Amino acid sequence: MAESLGVGPRMTAPSPLEQMDAGLRRQLADGAAALRPWLVDLRRHFHRHPELGWREVETTRRIVAELTDLGYETISGRDLLGDTARLGMSSAAIPGEGDTGCLAIFDTGRPGPTVCLRVDIDALPIREANENHKPAAEGWASEAEGVMHACGHDGHIALGLGTARLVRPLLESGRGKLKLLFQPAEEGGRGARAVVDAGWMEDVDLFLAVHLGLGVPSGTVALDVNEFLATRKYAVALEGRPAHAGKEPEAGRNALLAACQMVPALHALAQSSIAGVRVNVGRLEAGTALNIVPQFARFEFEIRAGTNEALEDLDLRCRRLVEATAQAHEVRSVMELRGSAEAWRNPGEMVTWAEGINRATSVYEHTLQDHPFGASEDATVLANAVTADGGRAAIFVLGADLADGHHTPHFDFDEDALAPGVHLLGALIASALAITSGEARK
Ligand SMILES: [Zn+2]
Repeated sequence: MAESLGVGPRMTAPSPLEQMDAGLRRQLADGAAALRPWLVDLRRHFHRHPELGWREVETTRRIVAELTDLGYETISGRDLLGDTARLGMSSAAIPGEGDTGCLAIFDTGRPGPTVCLRVDIDALPIREANENHKPAAEGWASEAEGVMHACGHDGHIALGLGTARLVRPLLESGRGKLKLLFQPAEEGGRGARAVVDAGWMEDVDLFLAVHLGLGVPSGTVALDVNEFLATRKYAVALEGRPAHAGKEPEAGRNALLAACQMVPALHALAQSSIAGVRVNVGRLEAGTALNIVPQFARFEFEIRAGTNEALEDLDLRCRRLVEATAQAHEVRSVMELRGSAEAWRNPGEMVTWAEGINRATSVYEHTLQDHPFGASEDATVLANAVTADGGRAAIFVLGADLADGHHTPHFDFDEDALAPGVHLLGALIASALAITSGEARK
């Protein structure tokens, strides 16, 4: 397997220029430019119909339809994740929930590496702005009440489908296998774990993922990216005993008080010199009425750290704190893992390879060096799984000017960023699968 791997442990990387003939470079450039209007339409379609993580049913249906039309084999629905455990599902029974996302495969039939490009497809529980906002002004704002593509994953779907379309005719000359993963439930760090557990990364030699925007402007790309923060997200449920607050409070076990003591104590555990160590309790609810010792409390919190070791250490101390405080108050505590991501930095040889391809194809004028991601992304779970198995992986940030910050009601990105993204991704895949132009083959 993987005998002609463009980059990887089994072969030294060829020079991108040497591998990418002028005909192929022209095909990629013209092809990507021609896709621009289609990419924008596609992005707007998904923007109008956002779906939350694990519920991307219609989104998946459209993705499968596009990929089938292009001649890819697709795996979706129950076939994708089977009975693998899914983090952070809702407790309500929603038809199709958890059976979303799609993996498209094209096998050239010739020996070579397995290359996987992953994009994410879920939206956020945010009410989209209807004033001073381009999607609203132009009539393609979210039609799903309280749900919005406010992180650019609508653009990521368009990038994935656009790349599928750009490289499809070129694959006739390639070697190895292409996998395009449209991953569900990235928000909150949920979907990637299930994809790994279902075994879809096991044969991957080269893994690529991308995110649009994140402060990187249009025309610029961050290939040398580091400081992806490891994170875990938890829901904590506390159960005490109710009692009359005036007559016999000592008979009660106060779940609200226990939770209130845990919140600042958890935050206090973030005192660290290690980059990225953070704690945030983002939600808390407790009690029923002012004259009752509160029986129940629930809160949700996340921890982050710049290294997996620092996260492990913080995680252990948070668990101890919750248990010990619950014990002191004699309340029952259950701590449920809702999501996770891992620490990551792009390996030097992957950065060098991608920079070479970007130079050879002249897609992005500017490349950022030593760029800190400064947040979490569950593509890291996929990337670490691939590298642990001897493969190579990288996660890039594709520049796109933003109307407002990610995860806000006025979020929007520059749609002119889509075609260059497809161009670069197509070129990276062409390089990795040793694709040559029709001209070179004649
Ligand atoms: Zn995102």
